[in-house]
Amino acid sequence: MTAADIPELKTIATKMRPFAATTTIYITYDGGTRFGPAISQKRDQAGHAEHRFLQEFAGPLMRTIARRYRSGLTRTKQGDPVSIVMDITRLPCPGCTDHRIIAFVDNAKAAYPDVPIKLIINAAALTKQSSPQQTLESLIKLRKRGIEVNASSIWTEIEKKMKQYKAFDYQGRFYASWEFMEFKSRAAEVQEEIDRSIRAINAVPKGAPGEGNLG
Ligand SMILES: [Zn+2]
Repeated sequence: MTAADIPELKTIATKMRPFAATTTIYITYDGGTRFGPAISQKRDQAGHAEHRFLQEFAGPLMRTIARRYRSGLTRTKQGDPVSIVMDITRLPCPGCTDHRIIAFVDNAKAAYPDVPIKLIINAAALTKQSSPQQTLESLIKLRKRGIEVNASSIWTEIEKKMKQYKAFDYQGRFYASWEFMEFKSRAAEVQEEIDRSIRAINAVPKGAPGEGNLG
């Protein structure tokens, strides 16, 4: 962690507030290489952040991964799947699960059959537009397609980094470190629901990447 990371960290910590109106996706691939800018969906914009990802970033991301993998330039060994990690401020809604996330994986496998990938979704909160049951069904669908879903790791990572600072300010507002803890405690109820869901999906047999049905 360097001084240059701090503004970015502040941005991430602020946006990770579980009830924030803005959804943001951060992408890394091949064991931690950052790809592109943060992808946000603001209140006044139509379409979810996942839609922007699919329209604007999915193609360039796969071209980059394929070029590097085929040239032996990835940290990932030949034959192993290249990880794509989506850190997202909430879980994908059922619509985005079917039409953006699963579509992305299917399209990538069809266009680059020689480039194995593994998609990992780290989500900070449940999506507000769907019921817990719909969310659970979406998570099960993702898991059956070999997509890994982790719901808690973003908080842990950010907290680890935030503990190095006593306080920080963002866009003119001062935040004390205890406020970050408050963000987290406000999310506790939601987090319990996520953890319950994750336990339930972990009981479902995991499909190999590329297997499973869209039904
Ligand atoms: Zn959506």
